[in-house]
Amino acid sequence: MNVSLGEAAELMSDARTIVITAHVHPDGDAIGSSLGLMHFLRSQGKEVQVLIDDDIPAIFDILPGYELIEKPDPERWQSADLLIALDVSLDRIGRVREMVQAPVLNIDHHITNDGALADKLYLDGNCAATAEIIYQLIRQKKKPFSQKTAMCLYTGLATDTGWFRFSNTTSSVMQAAAELLQCGVRPHVISEALERKPFAQLKGLAAAMGRIELFHEGRAAGAFLTAADLQSMESPDGLIDMIRVIDGTELAVVMKEKEPDVCRVSMRSKGLDVTKIAIRFGGGGHVRAAGCTISQPFETAKKALIEAIDAALEEQEGKERSAFAK
Ligand code: 5GP
Ligand code: MN
Repeated sequence: MNVSLGEAAELMSDARTIVITAHVHPDGDAIGSSLGLMHFLRSQGKEVQVLIDDDIPAIFDILPGYELIEKPDPERWQSADLLIALDVSLDRIGRVREMVQAPVLNIDHHITNDGALADKLYLDGNCAATAEIIYQLIRQKKKPFSQKTAMCLYTGLATDTGWFRFSNTTSSVMQAAAELLQCGVRPHVISEALERKPFAQLKGLAAAMGRIELFHEGRAAGAFLTAADLQSMESPDGLIDMIRVIDGTELAVVMKEKEPDVCRVSMRSKGLDVTKIAIRFGGGGHVRAAGCTISQPFETAKKALIEAIDAALEEQEGKERSAFAK
């Protein structure tokens, strides 16, 4: 059932013990919006715990409350009054779903989230980040932003907008960020922390960049990395952002074989709706940034993915041709 932002805030007010969760493979928005909301709700006297069923990348250790995030534990938090799932549809919260037996309030900005499995859903696809929704929620309650909350929410805004560069960077985002700066956020402290990479990871990125291929006459570019490749490359995070900038490409893709028959896919576009491709494989995301997991052997997954990308680009080319003919 869809609820308003005010109703979502009321559900939080009515609860005493709250668990907050977000998606596996957590990013700056998942972690920032979770910790930001945690700090706010704790300041309102609530007992709050953030549980995420995955490792939290060490670059986020700059965020207040980083060390408090736990993995779900069957012994604890079963009796929470409310489970708040942020920046995610409920199929991507891992074991938290079984381990916390509480009504679920789902807050998200992914247009592909249909709210299935959530008791209540507040979805705003116009928000650049879930952190922007949490910012609006706190503002609507006319409460101040502590420096801790501000740092966490700023991180969500900054990372989901590509440091205020992507097409989702609206004047509302900039105004929210400006207010958070007034509450003590120092942007360079956050960006310098989040940009850190171990030397081995940078070397891995360089190796992975050597594997980038162009296809669909240069309108798409991607790197397809097997488990063996990845073992020698030390988690080449950030690869998709390198591919995205190749001149003339509409679509960037990275496929990583995580384990046999499990291939993780990330896609970025300059306008083409990549959710349509991700949804074909059970994934989702945003128009210009989406992902999925393909449970197929590496070569089969690669072929199916390239076919789906070719079809999407052909459809877009068809539309461009007919618009030109008019
Ligand atoms: P990324 O490529 O950074 O992993 O993900 C891009 C966007 O797509 C993010 O907003 C992310 O939450 C979403 N996304 C990535 N993988 C999946 C998936 O398997 N399912 C859904 N529903 N969304 C995904
Ligand atoms: Mn997000």
